[in-house]
Amino acid sequence: MSAFKRVLVANRGEIALRIIRACHEEGLEAVAVYSEADRLSAHVRAADAAVPLGAAPASESYLNIPKLIAAARTTHCQALHPGYGFLSERAPFVDAVTAADLVFVGPPAEAIRAMGDKTAARRRMQAAGVPIVPGTTKPLGSVVEARPEAARLGYPVLLKAAAGGGGKGMRLVREERELGSAFEAARSEALKAFGAGEVYLEKYLERPRHVEVQILADANGRVVALGERECSIQRRHQKLIEEAPSVAVTPALRRRISDAATAAAGAAGYRSAGTIEFLLTPGGEFYFLEMNTRLQVEHPVTELVYGVDIVREQLRIANGLPLRIHGGPLQPRGHAIECRITAEDPFNDFLPATGVVRYLRPPTGPGVRWDGGVEAGNEVTLFYDPLIAKLIVWGETREVALHRMRRALRELVIVGLPTSQAFHLRVMDEPRFRRGEVDTTYLERVGAELLAQDSRPELTRPLAAVAALLAEERRAAAHPPAPSDGRSARESAWVQTARRESLRRWTE
Ligand code: ADP
Repeated sequence: MSAFKRVLVANRGEIALRIIRACHEEGLEAVAVYSEADRLSAHVRAADAAVPLGAAPASESYLNIPKLIAAARTTHCQALHPGYGFLSERAPFVDAVTAADLVFVGPPAEAIRAMGDKTAARRRMQAAGVPIVPGTTKPLGSVVEARPEAARLGYPVLLKAAAGGGGKGMRLVREERELGSAFEAARSEALKAFGAGEVYLEKYLERPRHVEVQILADANGRVVALGERECSIQRRHQKLIEEAPSVAVTPALRRRISDAATAAAGAAGYRSAGTIEFLLTPGGEFYFLEMNTRLQVEHPVTELVYGVDIVREQLRIANGLPLRIHGGPLQPRGHAIECRITAEDPFNDFLPATGVVRYLRPPTGPGVRWDGGVEAGNEVTLFYDPLIAKLIVWGETREVALHRMRRALRELVIVGLPTSQAFHLRVMDEPRFRRGEVDTTYLERVGAELLAQDSRPELTRPLAAVAALLAEERRAAAHPPAPSDGRSARESAWVQTARRESLRRWTE
């Protein structure tokens, strides 16, 4: 296999920047793509070359297969990294990439197909001896078929879309009389979201944790498990905070769940980075939920506790090289936490926010990592997901990591639009979270109480200082001082003093 030297990064935002950085660290060139909305984005400047794709809607840009392939061709790329989201888990895209003689930095199309249909994946896992959530392993034709299955499992049950993702097409059914309408609702939602209406049933597990295992598999058939991530802090089945390792996983459980994940990856004929998601019950039983056949948003927490750069390993694997990870079962070192900083208003039911980021000061200092894609001056639109950045910290213990995350969240200043920052700070202070007593219903139970008041002194002080400064600069820009005018010159000096003052005040 001839080694590739130049990679098309078929994504945007923080993950595009993350992949470009990994390419450069591996001595590879990276080519960015961008939509009209992302002209000024950091990932465009970070790359060695950048190709415009077209208008802002994803269908005209990041989801447009012919345009992506053409971009790779014209810039002489030999490989393509899909990132996450967009086309990353679409088998036909992998086929098109491969047909264009490009190396796909990800799993084989067959593995994506095998794991993309959830009922087929459940059958495959069952055959490989991986425990699956009790339920059906074939799509249900009608509610008539569903009824006896639901009764067998015992209510509550969960209806799920076979093609599912992002929590779509999922319906909780607490009792039999709700089954009919829930079945139709799940089916039509699935049809709309995925173009496939097949649904199946799972037993609804009460208060499980979402625990997932990161794996890396190379072309020689070697599969390595990089322990687990705890992803139970979710809102509407979307993760908001992730940690590694999970406080609920003992070394013995880690071995068992890692073995199950390794078996799952083997059964899928997997290659590259992938994640096996499990639900872990309060009793310590774990069940296969699904496999994500791509790099995940939350991969950095694993990187920090295992000392492995997952994206660089992906690039190596795609180039036919063996994994750089040596030795037997790996042990996590210390503790890592990630908060997804999104343009959403936690005090208004997480309503997505849009607007220009006027000022951005990411936290720095020991043990802090900022995986961002948005900079001051960039506009956050509704065209793409609301992720501004991932704030990740590492500490020797969970306690240290918690303190560090609190400190980092307090250092972060974002002006221009509402973000999830204050929400994260409150979770870090919440006693049950601090004790590690979390499950996937955590936010449903404590969210309202957590977000009762919509202001926070630690955040409002630096924000107010920056907002005042920006207002002053706007006024100054609207009335530029004439050199001969003594009064305007004095005003300008006043603006400068205000700037110094604000800076001094934030850093006190
Ligand atoms: P999607 O692919 O749509 O994201 P998943 O199957 O990965 O759906 O599930 C997403 C989340 O939904 C899980 O993390 C968990 O919080 C919840 N969930 C899924 N299946 C079950 C179940 N059987 N019992 C309880 N909660 C579940």
